[in-house]
Amino acid sequence: MADTVSPSRRSQIMAGIGQRHTQPELAVRHLAHALGLRFRLHRRDLPGSPDLVFPKLRLALFVHGCFWHHHEGCRRAAVPKTREEYWKTKFKKNAERDLRNLHDLEERGWRAAVIWECELRAPASVLKRLEELTGWRSDTTTTDDRHA
Ligand SMILES: [Zn+2]
Repeated sequence: MADTVSPSRRSQIMAGIGQRHTQPELAVRHLAHALGLRFRLHRRDLPGSPDLVFPKLRLALFVHGCFWHHHEGCRRAAVPKTREEYWKTKFKKNAERDLRNLHDLEERGWRAAVIWECELRAPASVLKRLEELTGWRSDTTTTDDRHA
């Protein structure tokens, strides 16, 4: 069957390869900044070169695009109709590599977490997750687990 991916779609796809400093990543950095957290970017000496690294907390964060990292059950992760097998194999490899990286980080005594692109549609909940991951608590927090 002929390859019918349009040129614009193709360049859109190619732009996702190996891309750093993507829009979702910038959004997460912005949120981490808002919490006053200190972090480093793309530590290449760590498995998977995590997008955000919080050295003191030994916490590594990945910001994953739903398409590339094949966010399971997410509509942004739909497999393209053309060259379906190629994409399925590619996504499977990406997912396996992602899992291996998380595992390797944990082996080295790091906590690792993934924030998905689609989660950023609700920045408040990503902010909450960042707070939980980093143990940061705002004075204005209304929920108090201590009295639960
Ligand atoms: Zn998603």
